[in-house]
Amino acid sequence: MPYCPNCKSEYQEGILVCADCGVDLVTELQAEAHLKSSDLELIYTCSDQIEAEMIRANLESIDLDVTILTQKDQNFPAVGDFAIIKLFVPAEQAEAAKNYITNLPSVPEENESEGE
Ligand SMILES: [Zn+2]
Repeated sequence: MPYCPNCKSEYQEGILVCADCGVDLVTELQAEAHLKSSDLELIYTCSDQIEAEMIRANLESIDLDVTILTQKDQNFPAVGDFAIIKLFVPAEQAEAAKNYITNLPSVPEENESEGE
């Protein structure tokens, strides 16, 4: 069953785009095939190629082994320029990568100060 990578809704076969999000649907088979090819863990998702490349460059600068997957690389016809881009690293590097991304100034996170 295809499903939306954004809201996780499942759709019937033959439907290619999420009615709610406008995102290309993916199949679990594709997601699992990629994940099983090596022991990768998803650490970041965005729809902006430039942002993805920037984060990859940052992570590679601290010696992490980053893999980028986009739906444009798969067999779906792209709808406009919109694509979900996923960044993976080996599972043992995932925690370091997530910590690094959290601390990047250009990625807004909850910035509430604690303990004041
Ligand atoms: Zn959706």
